[in-house]
Amino acid sequence: MDRNAKIFVTGHRGMVGSAIVRRLQAAGYDRLLTRGREDLDLLDQRAVHAFLAHEKPDYVFIAAAKVGGIQANDQQRADFLYQNLLIEANLIHGAHLAGVQRLMFLGSSCIYPRDCPQPIKEEYLLTGPLEQTNEPYAIAKIAGIKLCESYNRQYARQYVSVMPTNLYGPNDNYDLLSSHVLPALIRKAHEAKLRGDAEYVVWGSGTPRREFLYVDDLADACVHLMERGYDGPLVNVGTGEDVTIRELAETVMDVVGFRGRVVYDRSKPDGTPRKLLDVSRLAALGWKARTPLREGMRRAYESAPFHSPVANP
Ligand code: GDP
Repeated sequence: MDRNAKIFVTGHRGMVGSAIVRRLQAAGYDRLLTRGREDLDLLDQRAVHAFLAHEKPDYVFIAAAKVGGIQANDQQRADFLYQNLLIEANLIHGAHLAGVQRLMFLGSSCIYPRDCPQPIKEEYLLTGPLEQTNEPYAIAKIAGIKLCESYNRQYARQYVSVMPTNLYGPNDNYDLLSSHVLPALIRKAHEAKLRGDAEYVVWGSGTPRREFLYVDDLADACVHLMERGYDGPLVNVGTGEDVTIRELAETVMDVVGFRGRVVYDRSKPDGTPRKLLDVSRLAALGWKARTPLREGMRRAYESAPFHSPVANP
């Protein structure tokens, strides 16, 4: 990627998009193009196509999406399917019409079949039924992967799809109803500590296993792949290691400094039992994750909107 390239990062206020912008700026890319929702509605096909035709970026990163945790995915099923289909269709087709040759589409590890062998290899895509709680989101993301693949086959574009595992870090969503597990637990443990509670509530049974990647590591992987000119099929981005929700809940307590105990609310869904990514394709491309979970958690906690660090005496 040329330092003078014009790069359009969508979703730049979100956790992933803002991390990609930080990473590109740090590397000296200074022709970054971003637009807030008030200036460019990604659900509006005409506006998106006109914008891309006018700006003609060299590269596009699609980090814009409607995202959320297990409950939001399960309850707003129509919104997750409809909005994600429109965002990716408008951007991918619009990029193609504007002559954009290189594009990166960000997906999620929930696109893989619920009960596939672990760790999950890229070739397991579409080999079995999906997890029900996030099926609409997964279907939209699978459609995005197939759009990229199809523009490559039919029009010789280089549109790549990157599938990150569960992400966390600065600019995460800490709303307890719609967030993912890690930010939710950081907030719950923090509030329990402030209130002096004896316990904090974790959803489900505590037995599901999840893999967590610090978002700046993901951004680094994305830029690494673009810089290398990777134009292969989809690629997983993860750490290659997972933990149980129980272990996660205990580490969060430790990092936040809450000394209570965990109680499990089994009326909430567990979701898929395990989704650990096989990261050997990415390793062969010369990249591996750097931030250990505890360190990433510490940084995420420090940057959380509700966290005011203790003033120095
Ligand atoms: P998933 O990876 O798509 O299932 O999404 P989540 O990150 O929302 O949930 C991961 C796992 O953490 C599920 O088994 C949840 O039941 C569990 N979990 C435990 N406590 C919480 C919580 O407070 N919020 C969320 N979102 N998940 C929780």
